[in-house]
Amino acid sequence: MKSDVIADWAARPGRHIVNLSGGKDSTALAIFLHDKIPQIEYVFCDTHKELPETYDYLDRLEAFLQRPIIRLNAQRGFDHWLNMYGGMLPSAQVRWCTRKLKIEPFEAFVGDDTVWSYIGIRADEGRSGYISTKPNVHPVYPFKELGMTIADIERILETSGLGLPAYYSWRQRSGCFFCFFQRTGEWVGLKEHHPDLFEEAKKYETERGGEHFYWRQRESLAELEQPERIAQIKREHALRLEQERKKRPNRPLIELLGAVLDAEDDERGCDICHL
Ligand code: SF4
Repeated sequence: MKSDVIADWAARPGRHIVNLSGGKDSTALAIFLHDKIPQIEYVFCDTHKELPETYDYLDRLEAFLQRPIIRLNAQRGFDHWLNMYGGMLPSAQVRWCTRKLKIEPFEAFVGDDTVWSYIGIRADEGRSGYISTKPNVHPVYPFKELGMTIADIERILETSGLGLPAYYSWRQRSGCFFCFFQRTGEWVGLKEHHPDLFEEAKKYETERGGEHFYWRQRESLAELEQPERIAQIKREHALRLEQERKKRPNRPLIELLGAVLDAEDDERGCDICHL
């Protein structure tokens, strides 16, 4: 029985924590557990570079939960660590940002306490999320263990009144506005929805000693924002969306959009930031 399994989790001695990313799955998990595990704590590791929609979504979640969301990294956001790393932008290969801004603050926050860390990976996903190397932090996967899929997550968000994060129509991964895991179409979405943040992201890109430091390996943001390049990206995006529609005529647009964005870049997102 589902309720027995959850009661079993709630009875475990130690701290119970949902690590929020500002994305739909961790938000749905917070909502799903809030009346089942009353002692649960909610934590958000703030890079100070999230989208405004994410901060707004977290505020609305906090109001719904009637409980505080503990914000970590109050003093040291992305720019502090970028400075410490000599201006080297993080990338999928050298991902210092996740360690410094997500993992270490969380591990410092829990210390040596016994922790049940609830992770919003769904039953219809193949990933495992962030598994701490600390022996006192134990991962729990409620959606996976209870067989809950995307339809359940959408229902939880709908019923709560929160719905999907507002950025969802153009971007499907939570996290920093300049995240290098963004797909091509999501960068175009950033330029269109937040031109100021696109400009800010552009300012981080440099060239030194013949080497370039770009968010995207293949091209700089200055190249990507050229009108002909944007027109090409949009053409390809529309074509893929049309193909997806024909392949799966009964699926909601949001799902088709996810498949189209995945097809643009095959890099998997971050298992910590994008939940
Ligand atoms: S969202 Fe992207 S850039 Fe930000 S901390 Fe996570 S992996 Fe790094």
